Amino acid sequence: MSDTYELSCDCGHVKMTARGTPKLSLYCHCGSCRDLYSVDVLSATGWADEDVELPAENDLVVHKVDGKQMTRYSCPECGLTMYGRHKPGIPVIPHGLFRKANGGRLPAELAPTLHLFYRDRVLEIDDGLDKSQGGEAIGLED
Ligand SMILES: [Zn+2]
Ligand SMILES: [Zn+2]
Repeated sequence: MSDTYELSCDCGHVKMTARGTPKLSLYCHCGSCRDLYSVDVLSATGWADEDVELPAENDLVVHKVDGKQMTRYSCPECGLTMYGRHKPGIPVIPHGLFRKANGGRLPAELAPTLHLFYRDRVLEIDDGLDKSQGGEAIGLED
């Protein structure tokens, strides 16, 4: 696959590009993701660093979760979250940005394949996807 995704914030100040296939596409229920993004479940893709072109960190607003290696970057103008970096370090880009760039629909090839840290959930989801109780499905330690 040689898909190229041109992503933008709401005001157009921040642009990013992702190419090819993400390493991960999933729902994460862990408390850190819920805190970092202020959501009940994070719906996002994870990419190899070499497959994305990200804005310079100086051009973004940085949010961190206290005491954890979890960071989220947003547009300084419109405030939209553009991506995050979590413990494994790869850039994590919310599905919402891909929907925005694709007429409101998530490109089919980016469909999530599993739930992570389902034991930490605040929302039950009955969608037939695999539910990893912790992070073991992607090799993360508990
Ligand atoms: Zn998480
Ligand atoms: Zn913006």
